[in-house]
Amino acid sequence: MAVVTVDQDKCSGCGECISVCPASVFELNNEGKSVVARPEDCQECCACVEVCPESAITVDVCK
Ligand code: SF4
Ligand code: SF4
Repeated sequence: MAVVTVDQDKCSGCGECISVCPASVFELNNEGKSVVARPEDCQECCACVEVCPESAITVDVCK
């Protein structure tokens, strides 16, 4: 299973990762920032890493 992390200091809450993720891995938390809610569903497509404007997302199998 891929390890997906969101750096809360970098995340602006833009929601791009939520829009692009085919597996609904991300959700917004109470502060309006993205959190990893369902890492077990990650399909390792790396789209979130590419789309995040803040470079806040790390997926261990993606560069
Ligand atoms: S794309 Fe990046 S900055 Fe935008 S909500 Fe997701 S983690 Fe935060
Ligand atoms: S790598 Fe793909 S499936 Fe996994 S969290 Fe990112 S966008 Fe979703």
